[in-house]
Amino acid sequence: MTQTLTGGPGLTQERNLVTEVPGPRSRERLARKKAHVADGVGTALPVFVEAAGGGVLRDVDGNTLIDLGSGIAVTTVGNSAEAVVRRVREQLDSFTHTCFMVTPYDAYVDVCEALAEVTPGDHAKKSALFNSGSEAVENAVKIARVATGRDAVVVFDHAYHGRTNLTMAMTAKVMPYKHGFGPFAGEVYRAPMSYPLRDGLSGEQAAARAVEVMEKQVGADNLACVVIEPVQGEGGFVVPAPGFLPALARWCREHGVVLVADEVQSGFCRTGDWFACDHEGVVPDLVTTAKGIAGGLPLAAVTGRAELMDAVHTGGLGGTYGGNPLACAAALGALEEMRTHDLVGRAREVGAILHERLGALAAEHPVVAEVRGRGAMVAVELCVPGTTEPDAARTAAVAAACHAAGVVVLTCGTYGNVIRVLPPLSTTDALLHEGLDVLAEAFAATA
Ligand SMILES: *Cc1c(COP(=O)(O)O)cnc(C)c1O
Repeated sequence: MTQTLTGGPGLTQERNLVTEVPGPRSRERLARKKAHVADGVGTALPVFVEAAGGGVLRDVDGNTLIDLGSGIAVTTVGNSAEAVVRRVREQLDSFTHTCFMVTPYDAYVDVCEALAEVTPGDHAKKSALFNSGSEAVENAVKIARVATGRDAVVVFDHAYHGRTNLTMAMTAKVMPYKHGFGPFAGEVYRAPMSYPLRDGLSGEQAAARAVEVMEKQVGADNLACVVIEPVQGEGGFVVPAPGFLPALARWCREHGVVLVADEVQSGFCRTGDWFACDHEGVVPDLVTTAKGIAGGLPLAAVTGRAELMDAVHTGGLGGTYGGNPLACAAALGALEEMRTHDLVGRAREVGAILHERLGALAAEHPVVAEVRGRGAMVAVELCVPGTTEPDAARTAAVAAACHAAGVVVLTCGTYGNVIRVLPPLSTTDALLHEGLDVLAEAFAATA
């Protein structure tokens, strides 16, 4: 068993509640937030954190909570992981910014070299670095358009690609991500996703349905890229039926369409492989990454076939902060953690525990329509028993009960009826089991 307890400022690795959640100090701060922070910026669980590491968060009231969210799949290597802290400290003492587009530095190139090694496929690859997942997706589309000389972009039902103008157009769910924010970027078309619980189709059948939209409503000759999350994140941890992604990849290759895997949430060991595409041996032309890449510092990347990446004219890609030296140092530290502690293997162990425990939960509570996911990216979808009618109210109640008991879980899904589990891979089996005990109690208490 490879339990990694790196990082964290010496936090005791156990759940411990000394006040209600949120406690009085968090509630005081929530009033300050209300006064100074725009209401549009919400919080899932309003406890103010003062320390985090291993598998826990400690709040300003002294409560220690079990983290099953990793700040939305970001702190995969843990909070303040040792190698991340060490490398960022070293970088801090040297310099904080030059702008890579003005005067370059090694850490940026080191990250790009490492990305070529760990992303799917052994072809010649290059990368460009950015600040956020949305920005990476925008740039992948820019690259695909220049490389193909075509305009159209195909995305899928339930997709989440970000909150900038182009990525809002690519994101499926209107509330809260798009409502009132239009007009949106054009030439974005939506195809049906493979969603086995809801469509009952095989991967091949679902791919044929998507291809029909691409051929009849868009036209391969107009299509620059197909952008897909190999395991959907915000859309509900939807895992397409086996064969769906390989069939799409085949169609894209036959028609000169760039296949972009948006691995912003699923990448970097999360799914029990370096990338979710690896599970079916799918090799995308471009991969977008962010979230788990740098242990919590803002960094994102587009990595892809060298000839596609190089299609863009010099100066066409970049940004003031893209590939900031501190963020690059953090990414190199995160990669060191992933390799040193075999976090691919750890994600599989965590996944085995999650599937076993959540499977037992499903057997006991008919409201659980499905347990799905890969590695340490697993969710339960809640429906009215015996149907596929979403039960968002029960989902919200279960999440609230977990929060009150000191376990951070997140919800997701187009219908708001999915509870997702994304523990930091630095957690212990004991914390994981205790977190899942609390989740089971939350199901029982809300029945
Ligand atoms: C979170 C996410 C994004 C957007 O990333 P930001 O850093 O929030 O801009 C894009 N794609 C996927 C799959 C994501 O999960």
